[in-house]
Amino acid sequence: MRPVTEAEIRGSFVNASKGDAKRADLPDLSAVAWDNLDYLGWVDAKREQLAYTTFVVDTGDGDEVRTMLLRRAPAPRERRKLMCSWCQDITATDNVTLFVAPRAGASGRMGNTVGTSICTDFSCSKNSRRVPTSMELQDQADRAWWRQQRVDGLRERSRKFLDVVMETA
Ligand SMILES: [Zn+2]
Repeated sequence: MRPVTEAEIRGSFVNASKGDAKRADLPDLSAVAWDNLDYLGWVDAKREQLAYTTFVVDTGDGDEVRTMLLRRAPAPRERRKLMCSWCQDITATDNVTLFVAPRAGASGRMGNTVGTSICTDFSCSKNSRRVPTSMELQDQADRAWWRQQRVDGLRERSRKFLDVVMETA
């Protein structure tokens, strides 16, 4: 993704109030390796139950930055392995968290949310680019193809979730 600025992030929240957008604790954007990311995700350093994901969406007429607020869902009593719904990486199931995103607009203000499971450290982009195991891919010559499939899948699924959050009935 292309680099985004603090102002772009704060001005791009799709499902949070202006106050929430202003209070959000941002990571050090100068230290981000943008080229290797399909989305930027981070936990609020001051309020750990909150997290954010920022996307640069191609609108057909340039691009648009969109940021989504997420809340950590209450942890299930029994610890179980979860798969991240965004990167669907089968090797990263120990580090996946359930999040809920308030819906955009009036629906969200009434408390309606959408749930999903995402890598706790938002490492989906890295997971999608990892070396495939011999079970996953027998002919390592196809590695670039395999990686592209995974990156495309991650982009598609995470954007779809963003679309659902933004849907206003
Ligand atoms: Zn993931």
